[in-house]
Amino acid sequence: MLDDTLRLDRPRADELVPSRYALRVGEIDVLVISDGVLPLPDATIATNGKPAEVAAWLDDMRQPADKFFWPLNVIVVRSGGRTVLIDAGVGAEFRDFPQTGRLAQRLQAAGIDPASVTDMVITHQHVDHVGGLLADELRSRLRPDLPIHIAAAEVEFWRSPDFSRNAFPKGIPDVLRSAATRFADTYRKQLQLFDDEREVAPGVVIRRTGGHTPGHSVVRLTSGGERLTFLGDAVFHNHFERPDWHNAFDHDPEESVRVRVGLLRELAASRELLVAAHVSFPFGRVAVAGNAFRFIPAYWEY
Ligand SMILES: [Zn+2]
Repeated sequence: MLDDTLRLDRPRADELVPSRYALRVGEIDVLVISDGVLPLPDATIATNGKPAEVAAWLDDMRQPADKFFWPLNVIVVRSGGRTVLIDAGVGAEFRDFPQTGRLAQRLQAAGIDPASVTDMVITHQHVDHVGGLLADELRSRLRPDLPIHIAAAEVEFWRSPDFSRNAFPKGIPDVLRSAATRFADTYRKQLQLFDDEREVAPGVVIRRTGGHTPGHSVVRLTSGGERLTFLGDAVFHNHFERPDWHNAFDHDPEESVRVRVGLLRELAASRELLVAAHVSFPFGRVAVAGNAFRFIPAYWEY
């Protein structure tokens, strides 16, 4: 057994760590899948943070001083006979980051045939959420008429995106524009636009929050008295302790803080499960801690 797991030249489907976690929320099946981790410059986590405070936070988290490893999570939800894929990871858009873009291979390892996906939800059009749909590995295996649910405000924003309030690392604006444009062009006929809210399967509701991007949305799961919220990019890992920090990718930083604090307060009160694209895999809960919050990682329950 040990010999098998140590053979590193085996196909990726036999990865040492499965990078997926299954749970149930009432009658809804949920699978959290890691697309990998994105190493980005440390300044991206707090464009309004004092450098000494950001450095101290990274040190507290035992992260390197020059970059922060952003987890990148995707979820698959099954409810009422529908299979919903929520976000698509980064695909092959960042070839310099070999630790990401694993969604297609990890879906396969989990026994999920992309052709069985009945609905796709895109929380927003950033490259690390639509990139997986641009790579052949996944695109070629999805139903050609797969409905893709996305807020109308998001699609509208990316027709002529305003980056005037972002502090992006060099090269990022071009990558974002390119991925968002190719996504909209490739899938134009499949986009199912909504204004504020849409139920895509029983107990699976997408709700537009705005903030991070104008059409940014979260997904609320409710079944049998249980709840889980997929927060997309409303909350990054540092935001439990520093919800006031502006992420470089927040297109409206002040509105992002308002949305984030509102959601975290609500989830702290309800004590429900949360998954976020860039919060530690696989999921957890949040509690109020003084003027900020505290992330409570999930136990691996078997
Ligand atoms: Zn993201």
